[in-house]
Amino acid sequence: MTIRTRIAPSPTGDPHVGTAYIALFNKCLAKQAGGEFILRIEDTDQARSTARSEQKILDSLRWLGLDWDEGPGIGGEYGPYRQSERTEIYRTHVDQLLEQGHAFHCFCTSERLGELRKQQMADKVQPGYDGHCLSLTQQQVSEKLEAGTPQVIRMRIPEEGSCQFTDLLRGDIEIEWKQVDMQILVKADGMPTYHLANVVDDHLMKITHVVRGEEWINSVPKHLLLYKYFGWDAPVMCHMPLLRNPDKSKLSKRKNPTSIVYYERMGFLPEALINYLGMMGWTMPDGEEKFTLAQMIEQFDISRVSLGGPVFDVEKLSWLNARYLREDFTPQQFIQLLADWAFKPEYVESLIPLIQERVEVMSDVVGKGAFFFNGMPEISEASFEHKKLEADQCRKILQFGLWRLEQLDDWDKPSIMEALNQLAGSMELKIRELLFPYFIAIAGTAASTSVLDSMAIIGSDMTYARLRNAVNVLGGVSKKEQKRWDSEYRKLPAQ
Ligand code: GLU
Repeated sequence: MTIRTRIAPSPTGDPHVGTAYIALFNKCLAKQAGGEFILRIEDTDQARSTARSEQKILDSLRWLGLDWDEGPGIGGEYGPYRQSERTEIYRTHVDQLLEQGHAFHCFCTSERLGELRKQQMADKVQPGYDGHCLSLTQQQVSEKLEAGTPQVIRMRIPEEGSCQFTDLLRGDIEIEWKQVDMQILVKADGMPTYHLANVVDDHLMKITHVVRGEEWINSVPKHLLLYKYFGWDAPVMCHMPLLRNPDKSKLSKRKNPTSIVYYERMGFLPEALINYLGMMGWTMPDGEEKFTLAQMIEQFDISRVSLGGPVFDVEKLSWLNARYLREDFTPQQFIQLLADWAFKPEYVESLIPLIQERVEVMSDVVGKGAFFFNGMPEISEASFEHKKLEADQCRKILQFGLWRLEQLDDWDKPSIMEALNQLAGSMELKIRELLFPYFIAIAGTAASTSVLDSMAIIGSDMTYARLRNAVNVLGGVSKKEQKRWDSEYRKLPAQ
């Protein structure tokens, strides 16, 4: 049997180090055995999926050397590899489930479901769909469908007993059917949910081992049941421990940069980042901490993956990166490395005109342009002193702007300008006032090149990281405040 594994990211945000971590272990499992590693884009959530995010995921995985044997950009025997191009396939499969009585139409309104949930909370019972529409007759279903009543399709779940399965790393697991909801398989917009699309694709793409994050363990019963309904053999299931912040909470961008592009722009080497991700749960048989992807593949044995919560610690990663920089490059090679990283013609060409305008002598260039190459600017709370804005206001302006900028589909100056102009309008601030804390967060000083141009040039990932850094310098946002601000932000008038 040829081992076939896959990574199935949803293109809904920045390319996450967690995606690379799971991709790495999938790639090692397949390649160690001479198998294939597949990339599939799970973009059924059309409201949140973007082409920009997909492109960044592809670029980041390639940058890390996690290239795939089949998938977008390459093709393969089992394509298309983008779920939005496979809707016809899901439709025929769900029709089969409906015909065989394994799935049913549900016409419940969101009001009814809301009431049901409230009641279940009050009764302290497990919230979930109560099977209301299962009692409709065939005749009633046909009438409602003909009348165009909004509906979803749900899967049937056994009322009693439990689902037992074996996880490659965790051994036997048992989950009672009572705890499993009658999962929606097709949404009101006709798109499949993750659960249906994922199972159908894993089967049709001949995936033999599903290696993914532990947050999916509770979905396994639904997935195995779908395999059973379709009469297919299920792949081997393997759930990796989630990456954690140094304080052991789930790795989150609020506490740690999580975008792969951020690490690239900070000047981490792909070899070091991949090596470090490998260390999350894996050690070489000889205990050596510095190893290449090829060495990891050669020695890989999934049963040696440890289940302890792996901590993604940027300090440790920096230590490892330093070893690579010191040990693997002669000064001559280092010059080339630096040139390729910092002085890429398109990058330099985009920022030089801005600097050229602002220097008197050429020795001013480094000082004025340093923030285009640096990591976080050296700032403190005092840097945000302003005659009109309080520090707390600056913190809020930055946080609100971060939320708005994170929603942008295109990252260019006009889009950034429009987003921040709108924000200024709805927060009743002059644009010049609103931009002040952005100058500090991005360039470390209000006397710099246009901050809108600067954000466009340093890119979204570095911009987000610097804005988050500035919010933290100003004291961060507590959980309580986050909730309050979030509802305030949502109520801001659209301008
Ligand atoms: N699209 C899912 C994700 O974004 C894939 C989960 C899986 O590997 O089954 O994590």
